[in-house]
Amino acid sequence: MTEADPNVLVGPTLERTIFQCLGEYLLPLMKSHKQNVIQVDGVTGESLTADILLKRAIKLAKWFRYQGISVGDCAGVNSENHLEYYTVPLAGFFEGVAFTGFNPDYTPWELKHVMNLSKPKVVFCSYRTVDKVLLNLHEYQFIQLVVLFGKERRSYHPKVVMFNEIMGNVNKEELDESYTAVPVDSKETLATILYSSGTTGLPKGVMCTHFNLTSFTETTFTQFRDIMLSPDPYDAMLVVMPLFHGFGFTLMYMNLIRGKSLILLDKFKPRTFLEALVKYRVTRLSVPPPLILFLIKHPLVKEYDLSSIKEIRSGAAPLSADIQKELKEKFQAEHVSQAYGMTETTLSVLAVPPGGLEKIGSSGKVVPGMMAKVVDQQGRSLGKYQRGELCFKGPLVMKGYVDNPEATRNTIDKDGWLHSGDIIYYDDDGYFYIVDRLKELIKYNGFQVAPAELEALLVNHPSIDDVAVVGLPDEALGELPLAFAVKKPSSNLTEQDVEKFVEDHVSPGKRLKGGVIFVAEIPRNPSGKILRRVLKEKAIEIKAKA
Ligand code: AMP
Repeated sequence: MTEADPNVLVGPTLERTIFQCLGEYLLPLMKSHKQNVIQVDGVTGESLTADILLKRAIKLAKWFRYQGISVGDCAGVNSENHLEYYTVPLAGFFEGVAFTGFNPDYTPWELKHVMNLSKPKVVFCSYRTVDKVLLNLHEYQFIQLVVLFGKERRSYHPKVVMFNEIMGNVNKEELDESYTAVPVDSKETLATILYSSGTTGLPKGVMCTHFNLTSFTETTFTQFRDIMLSPDPYDAMLVVMPLFHGFGFTLMYMNLIRGKSLILLDKFKPRTFLEALVKYRVTRLSVPPPLILFLIKHPLVKEYDLSSIKEIRSGAAPLSADIQKELKEKFQAEHVSQAYGMTETTLSVLAVPPGGLEKIGSSGKVVPGMMAKVVDQQGRSLGKYQRGELCFKGPLVMKGYVDNPEATRNTIDKDGWLHSGDIIYYDDDGYFYIVDRLKELIKYNGFQVAPAELEALLVNHPSIDDVAVVGLPDEALGELPLAFAVKKPSSNLTEQDVEKFVEDHVSPGKRLKGGVIFVAEIPRNPSGKILRRVLKEKAIEIKAKA
């Protein structure tokens, strides 16, 4: 890939391009992993081999066919991480059915928005989420069936089918060698719809194609050949990030291709996490910054021998240079670095290659197959050490946002450059350093919080006239959502009332942990746009004095 502009940084050339669709590519690959233990539940120790996962995925793929769920349709999972989870995306890849993942913490109110974007024909639920989906099922005309994971039938709703019943005796059956994946147009057919608010507004459905994911495979192979083809038959990775987020999802995807053990945790609990690292001799760890902070600061960590860890990578949110330095000093890992990615770019687009320079505070270099540039407000490309908006072009850029051509056009320009909304510069060696965020997005604990979503909720509160939500910087969790609110005249609304109102409607990660500040007016520019930077600075000032 080349570009005439000398300010465009071009990643290494991909070793090859995969033109097959995901199903055709993954089916023989999964067969080749045979009885390798591919997933282990980090709490129960239960494990899943590649051949069993493949048998289950084929069985589910055939069930999709039987139900008339086919190319162009979508299958959703609303569940915490567990060993059955990935059967759904894998079956979807085989049949050309897109996967969508919902946060199991979502309230019915939050679910409605994302459901109506991806419109899944079938939703796989856990015991924790099934009632939330059933509550508004009458409004989701597109859902044909709800599938419940777990051993016991705990719901007798006529649309609920048990996952175990679909699977039957699959573990004991022979692999169906006659099954072939549905050939689909790799560049057009959706593989995933994950969610991101992008640079502005409500969460949107990010459409990534089969080609995006096969290109991600090649990016990773070209860059991390040693990891992908590691001679160590065990070489375990651990995933604690949820599979509904691009970070967890692509780690799991890469592990299918690698064919080695991946230790899966449902959620982060200090002791469980540390015990899993030791018990399964985890060698590679990719986690968001709050877990890096945990590793270097928490007193419990000293009780565990974590010497098996060879490599620690941070991603999903900024990691401060001081923390990265401390991590490097405290852990004797061979490699410590951060990577940068977006849901809209399939995942990592900046990373430190093996043997690369571990520059503290840098997110690394452009990954193979991709191009990056930094632009000023007029869209002119900038040279090294100049700060501007980071843009990407190449095979990892999403197809667009579901049913939202305007947001797609505002994000991917006519020349195919995706505008990230992040402010960055690069140095003499082509290493990038994120310095700020242009977009509205708040990152709490590595997860997105869209200010517009909380504002849309709060503006409907009977005692609120106007509102703006910003992120209050926080060392441990990145940013905490904080609301500035204008009360209706003569209202006696309290800060606690506002916090409680939000708590009643949204999942824990979106609560107003930064607090509420009442103001007489929300500052806006002449066109009505909230002056978020002014408010953020005000919030920092007020909180510093408190
Ligand atoms: P998501 O789509 O949820 O992965 O969020 C993408 C956003 O997370 C990016 O646009 C950045 O704002 C932020 N982000 C991801 N990785 C990094 C990183 N290494 N440093 C700073 N910000 C990051």
